[in-house]
Amino acid sequence: MNTVVSYLPGAAPAVTTLESEIRRIFDLQRETALRLRTSTAEERIAKIKRLHDAVMAHREAFYEAAYQDFKKPPAEVDLAEVLPVISEAKHAMRSLKKWMKPQHVWPTSLTIGLKSWVQYEPKGRCLIISPWNYNVNLCFSPLVSCIAAGNTAILKPSEMTPHLSALMAKIIKEIFPPDEVALFEGDVSVATALLALPFDHIFFTGSPAVGKIVMAAAAKHLASVTLELGGKSPTIIDADADIKLAARTLMWGKYTNNGQTCIAPDYVYVHASVKDAFVKECIAVIESCYGKTAAEQMQSPYLARVVNERHTQRIHNLLADAQQRGARVLCGGAVSEKDCFIQPTLLDNIPADAKIQSEEIFGPLLPIIPYTDLDRVIDEINAQPKPLALYIWSKTEANIEKTLKRTSAGGTCINHCVVQYAHGRLPFGGVNNSGIGSAHGIYGFKAFSHERAVVRTRFMMARTLFPPYTNFKRKLLDLMIKTQ
Ligand code: NAD
Repeated sequence: MNTVVSYLPGAAPAVTTLESEIRRIFDLQRETALRLRTSTAEERIAKIKRLHDAVMAHREAFYEAAYQDFKKPPAEVDLAEVLPVISEAKHAMRSLKKWMKPQHVWPTSLTIGLKSWVQYEPKGRCLIISPWNYNVNLCFSPLVSCIAAGNTAILKPSEMTPHLSALMAKIIKEIFPPDEVALFEGDVSVATALLALPFDHIFFTGSPAVGKIVMAAAAKHLASVTLELGGKSPTIIDADADIKLAARTLMWGKYTNNGQTCIAPDYVYVHASVKDAFVKECIAVIESCYGKTAAEQMQSPYLARVVNERHTQRIHNLLADAQQRGARVLCGGAVSEKDCFIQPTLLDNIPADAKIQSEEIFGPLLPIIPYTDLDRVIDEINAQPKPLALYIWSKTEANIEKTLKRTSAGGTCINHCVVQYAHGRLPFGGVNNSGIGSAHGIYGFKAFSHERAVVRTRFMMARTLFPPYTNFKRKLLDLMIKTQ
């Protein structure tokens, strides 16, 4: 593990290992976490505002860093990095007083005479680990919830977008003392060192495979976890769907960040009767957004690159494997690994044993699968792990209802995609393989809070049930059992 320069209060800077520096900061946060238990809404809001203002002040720097990392278009930096953090911060600043209020609870027949409420207390020292694809948003938005709930935080952004991580480290250092919020850059070794510590809560966003490692590490200390994971998100285009709308919205949801979005449509079932029309519309949308040829698309300022050569090779392999097994390229298909470029690519005729049918694509390939029987589609979706998102474009209420009721997914859009993420008053999260727990707004606040049950005696009805257990008391118990 790397060495770092550590600045101990009142002492000369000392060279130390990153592992011991992580331990030092973690220990430093202990006292602060205890102190923050009594922090007021105003104090927490002031900290969130600091983060909000710093993100606003660094917009240009985010554009620059994201472009250097994977040629991410500035508009997509605004849309998917800056805007979500700002919106999460504003929502928390407006709502925090209300969220923090103890929630009065009416007594049940068993607890008549007791006053009860739920009190939100901070969990304590929290760890936030984020993935590379929206490194800023997926680190700073949970940080808003973490601060709102009154915790300290250690952040570990992804090493795969190093320019963005370095900028985030600089911002955090400028606006927070390390005993409140600290950030450690680095790879798996840094995440592993952090996961060895007894945090009170771990908020992890990333792949299901690493989510399992995080959960196993959390189990050693019985830390609670929020796991925001990924997987394959299915999409259904019904026979009566508005094809133009479906193609326009679906291509946007798929090709923003060049398909590297956890909730991007991963594969599409299209009713066979509208498949050709749908594919034609999709190709028209791709061409109008990014250009007609591979050369034009490579020059497009609106199409981010695949994050690195390793992932370009991974996606290229998925494409090659599918083609070898008989898949047909409907549009796109060009790859330049050294440029981290893969054309937006639609595929059909994909055999069931192709790797692309089981692995999360997380890139610009989109399998199109014709269907005639919605029940079979639902059976196939239910045979896969529960997805983070499921989308349906349809005008038939019965088909929408059937799909909603007979499948399970973290979230769903009807006649749209991806925008469920943007709604700060909805819980955002997966289910089983796609995640545990929720983020955003009050759900994020609760993820970082312990809901403490408090009961206060007013008058002692329960005394009637203390020993000695007379016949009268046994009859009273009997009555209580029968009348519940
Ligand atoms: P990843 O799981 O490889 O990495 C995520 C983070 O975990 C990084 O900070 C990384 O350094 C760290 N990490 C990697 N290996 C680790 C290990 N063995 N032990 C401990 N930490 C480790 O994910 P990624 O490639 O950065 O992102 C892509 C994945 O994240 C996709 O599966 C995608 O669907 C998912 N994702 C989910 C959401 C969501 O909100 N649910 C959002 C974005 C991405």
